[in-house]
Amino acid sequence: MSQKKAIVVGAGIGGLATSIRLRAKGYEVEVFEASDKAGGKLNQMNEKGYRFDMGPSLFTLPQELDHVFETAGKNPREYYDYEKLDLITKYFYEDGTQIDAWAEPKRFARELEQKTGESAQKALKVLEKSSEIYDITSHVFLERSLHKLSTYLRKDTLISILNLHRIDSMRSMHKANAHQFKDPRVVQLFDRYATYNGSNPYEAPATLRIIPHLEFNIGAFFPKKGIYTIPTSLFKLATDLGVKFHFGEKVDEILVEDKEVKGIRIGETKHEAEVVVSNMDVVPTYRNLLSSQPAPEKILTQPRSSSALIFYWGIKESFPDLDLHNIFFSQDYQEEFRYIWEEKSIYDDPTIYVHISSKCEEEDAPKGKENWFVMINVPANQGQDWGSLITTARQNVLNKLSRMLDKDIESLIEFEDRLTPELIESRTSSYQGALYGNSSNNKFAAFLRHPNFHRKIKGLYFVGGSVHPGGGIPLCLLSARIVGDLVE
Ligand code: FAD
Repeated sequence: MSQKKAIVVGAGIGGLATSIRLRAKGYEVEVFEASDKAGGKLNQMNEKGYRFDMGPSLFTLPQELDHVFETAGKNPREYYDYEKLDLITKYFYEDGTQIDAWAEPKRFARELEQKTGESAQKALKVLEKSSEIYDITSHVFLERSLHKLSTYLRKDTLISILNLHRIDSMRSMHKANAHQFKDPRVVQLFDRYATYNGSNPYEAPATLRIIPHLEFNIGAFFPKKGIYTIPTSLFKLATDLGVKFHFGEKVDEILVEDKEVKGIRIGETKHEAEVVVSNMDVVPTYRNLLSSQPAPEKILTQPRSSSALIFYWGIKESFPDLDLHNIFFSQDYQEEFRYIWEEKSIYDDPTIYVHISSKCEEEDAPKGKENWFVMINVPANQGQDWGSLITTARQNVLNKLSRMLDKDIESLIEFEDRLTPELIESRTSSYQGALYGNSSNNKFAAFLRHPNFHRKIKGLYFVGGSVHPGGGIPLCLLSARIVGDLVE
């Protein structure tokens, strides 16, 4: 009997992991990718002796990536390696406070106590709560399809459902943090975790307090040679297993007949398959590739997560006080989020994230210099006048960093490039340039993401950051695991 064939549309992190999982199941797998390389939002740039990871910079839950290799019977360490960070993030405040977020929870709690007076016990309690929320929700909301009856018939799901009242979904993340801590600097630090999936801490449910658990109780990691080794090692594994890749091939249509998927079409050429998995954002998948099929409007019209504006700067000096991940906080966090979510604009005093991979990988910058990835959260692309917003934001970022680091930063920039919401959208087809699909501001957000399968079209599946369980590298890998489990 001939092998069953699966086609994956898109070689983002979700598409790559799915191609491997389906190949490991015995499918003949072909991946069609519109751009000229694998990785999607995980991309890199080499210029003037500097290397920049252009998309994600924080790597959590590496065991989920290892699991992809293990499923294929391979040793992940033969493909990529990573190190656990002792110091996760350095936080800088305009009042001169500087807080080190140590990975070891007790050390971090002591640091908070020393710098702000908040009791270490309180911080530890918050991290315990984070861990509790993770234990209750991960089986149901992260690891399985939320849309299959079989999920709800499992004992661990039933236990989780009985405990759902403990996941703190009725108040906002900010309310929960402000209830816990008196010091606004500590509240701001914990509020920031809402941005890890592009949400607003003043609206998103306190359930998102699950996120610090990933960093402090499980760990934050740095893949050796940088984040871009994640897609390159997955791509190598896939090709080792015999997955065929077609780059520069933009899929025009997913072919459906009698409620069954038949393959894809690129221009005049049709490619047949029993299974098609779309790793393209679910909105353009419906609007462009499935335009003759009814679309689930309620899901497709949900508000999107925030986007980002990133400046890649080659800096001709080194900054010993900075580390791999650095945050320069806004003085008015609530106003910053009001600008992003209500004005759909950029606040004049944005929180700035500076990621410097050359702190871990010396080769990422010439000797004595640093590769700065300077990012601020901005709204999803809704046709704003980005040209003028970006010019103003760049100046505000430079002013703030120069003030807080007591150095004229602009004079140190010897290379510059940028990534904008419009570029994120045009390069990866991510609707509105959102980083994480739909926003998680709504407490029902988990139920308003598209399932990993099509309810009416046999053989059609969805993977990646715009569908269940959501965006970010670990969740995209989990969506690939769910698709791998669903495909027969
Ligand atoms: P995508 O990366 O969206 O890729 C989809 C692929 O499909 C693309 O390669 C695209 O070219 C291809 N495609 C689209 N349409 C077609 C078509 N018609 N035919 C063929 N191919 C097509 N996550 C973290 O975990 N940690 C972070 O620190 C982090 N920071 C981020 C910072 C930035 C600036 C960005 C942009 C994202 C960040 N994320 C982070 C989010 C993370 O990058 C995404 O959630 C994840 O990479 C999305 O993967 P995906 O599988 O959905 O596919």
